[in-house]
Amino acid sequence: MTIHVIGAGVAGLAAALALAEAGRPVVLHEAAPNAGGRCRALPDGTDNGTHALLGANTAALGLLRRIGALEGWVEPEPDGLQVLDLRDGRAFRVALSPFGWRDPALRPPGLSGGALLALARLALPGRDRAVGPAMAAHPEFHRGFVDPLVIAALNTPSEEASANRLGAVLRRLGGRGATRLLVARDGLGPDLVAPALAALERAGATLRFGARLRRLVTQGGRVVALDFGEEAVPLGPGDAVVLATPPWESQRLLPHLETPTGYAPIVNLHYARRGAGPVRFIGMLEALCQWVLVRPTGVSVTVSAGDAAAREDQAVLGPRAWAELRRAALAFGLPGDWPEAPPPCRVVKERRATPRHSPGPPLRPPRLPLANLALAGDWTDPVLPATIEASVRSGEAAAGVLLR
Ligand SMILES: Cc1cc2nc3c(=O)[nH]c(=O)nc-3n(C[C@H](O)[C@H](O)[C@H](O)COP(=O)(O)OP(=O)(O)OC[C@H]3O[C@@H](n4cnc5c(N)ncnc54)[C@H](O)[C@@H]3O)c2cc1C
Repeated sequence: MTIHVIGAGVAGLAAALALAEAGRPVVLHEAAPNAGGRCRALPDGTDNGTHALLGANTAALGLLRRIGALEGWVEPEPDGLQVLDLRDGRAFRVALSPFGWRDPALRPPGLSGGALLALARLALPGRDRAVGPAMAAHPEFHRGFVDPLVIAALNTPSEEASANRLGAVLRRLGGRGATRLLVARDGLGPDLVAPALAALERAGATLRFGARLRRLVTQGGRVVALDFGEEAVPLGPGDAVVLATPPWESQRLLPHLETPTGYAPIVNLHYARRGAGPVRFIGMLEALCQWVLVRPTGVSVTVSAGDAAAREDQAVLGPRAWAELRRAALAFGLPGDWPEAPPPCRVVKERRATPRHSPGPPLRPPRLPLANLALAGDWTDPVLPATIEASVRSGEAAAGVLLR
């Protein structure tokens, strides 16, 4: 009863681990030379893009714990996020949790009773609509808190972002420690992908890289063989498949599948600026840079829902983002040198980083579209936006249906 997991992104890694730990023989097939998918280390060790987790991401943190990698995820700003507003140069600190707003020093700009009520309304399930118009009566609170949150969590501009998807995120932020923000101290390679692969090997799974599934051979509603081009793997009667490929690839392999129609890019800039000091995470308003991650190994900038940035040239993006983040570094007194001239920079444009989360009923792809094939992937979660958390949940759910 071998289970073939297709795709070694977070969803495939989570599925393969759940199955291997349950004692099933698992073969993990990955098209690329490395694992991680959209959450990976590039060959030089740089992350493709900054990935942050929240304390509310219990499935993701559970996976990190199981693979022995939780300690690598650190909380850079335990006392509240530092934010620089480039509109007026104001530097302030903000708590991510509404409970933290009891302290006036940690309140987001524009907070009022009405704004809080509007946020609470967004958290309630109901008729879906776009977040931007729903917050129109509270423009400052929207600009300074809701909009950055929407862009970070949904990778969709708030004018077109689904209030219901945001609500699903907000409802999970109420618990103790739920708004703790965590990032990988040394990077996605050492703090996620490598420990996951090591855990899979310990659990006896077989890993195959450079193995792109060309075609699913089906008969009578079951997968009977996996076509990898030069090689076909026949499936026995008890064998099964977890398809954990990105949505466009899942649809190519299973053409009847309904998949998202629009995607949003995330652009990351990675500066070769080394320096001692703790990991820091800074927010920026009215800037190209939305988040700045400072690690001893380099400085990274995130531009989510970055349609315009994805069209822009590196020669323009690099100096502009550096000038912005340098202002933030100086405003918050970050240690080390912050020269005017930008250090060498690498731009990574992930053009289909996640689906766009627009208002409307979420897709509900079947978990088991074929008798012996379960579907996984960030886009298959009917409630949460496409994130690491959704990926882990989907992988574990796919493993669960096959184990049952
Ligand atoms: C730049 C960036 C920043 C992000 N930031 C965050 C963040 O801060 N927090 C957060 O929670 N989420 C974030 N995300 C989203 C998160 O990375 C994704 O939701 C998650 O990685 C998706 O995982 P997945 O396993 O569903 O899909 P994928 O990562 O796409 O994995 C699919 C895998 O299948 C492989 N594959 C494809 N076709 C085949 C085939 N035919 N045969 C075999 N293998 C195949 C691919 O190579 C890939 O490895 C970010 C995404 C990006 C791109």
